Amino acid sequence: MQRLEGRIVIVTGASSGIGEAVAIAFAEVGAKVVLAARRQDRLDALAQRIAQAGGEALAVATDVTDEAAVERLFATAVEKFGRVDVLINNAGIADSTACEDLALERWQQVLDTNLTSAFLCSRAAFRLMKPQGRGRIINVGSISARVPRPESPAYTASKFGLDGLTRSLAVDGRDHGIAVSIYHPGIVNTELGPNMGKAPAERTSDPRDTAEIILHMASVPDHMNFYEALMVQLAVP
Ligand code: NDP
Repeated sequence: MQRLEGRIVIVTGASSGIGEAVAIAFAEVGAKVVLAARRQDRLDALAQRIAQAGGEALAVATDVTDEAAVERLFATAVEKFGRVDVLINNAGIADSTACEDLALERWQQVLDTNLTSAFLCSRAAFRLMKPQGRGRIINVGSISARVPRPESPAYTASKFGLDGLTRSLAVDGRDHGIAVSIYHPGIVNTELGPNMGKAPAERTSDPRDTAEIILHMASVPDHMNFYEALMVQLAVP
């Protein structure tokens, strides 16, 4: 993981679950992590934990659905570290509401949080990474973007949309040294997990497992894009 040492990595949704595990994993290999989410107290505690372990982290309370807040996040990262090398678009919310019961407001909230946020962060990242001639964006999708769960039209649409955004930006980034990719976790044991409509017998994985896969995707040589990975849980005890 030498390639990630000293790299500047923004992780959205870093206040819990997968994002927290990703931030820790990157810090452990010497990356400088910028932690973004709304819960400042959680981000501060994580930054402290990373610093105590000898790493470097900057907590920036951010609502990723807020255009101005996203601009502030990137400006703060550049002010502190001078550049951004890697963006992990991980922030997300779950929703299991049948179409006929789904309020427009909720539909928009899910799309804003899971998809528009990735557009806003990717736009800010492209504006920095194009002149740098180098950069990497990894989106956290979902197995729902391959196999939809019942009664989750907003979540499923948001993750299919994120898949489409990834494909589009991967094409646009290629000639500028910007790798854009997507990881689709299966069911992960986080605060969001129970809202995914998990079947009782379904196995879950640890956020650390997901973090290690994302770390691996980020650590390939700069001229390569580990474009896509999909996790399927096996029925082993
Ligand atoms: P968590 O609920 O533990 O984490 C979600 C994170 O997103 C939190 O840090 C939360 O922080 C942040 N977040 C939510 N809304 C916003 C917002 N408006 N602005 C900024 N941050 C926000 O869930 P997971 O770790 O499980 O989820 C992470 C990603 O993984 C999501 O995109 C999810 O769809 C995906 N995923 C998860 C699976 C699972 O089984 N757990 C399976 C497949 C995909 P805060 O509330 O502090 O803002």
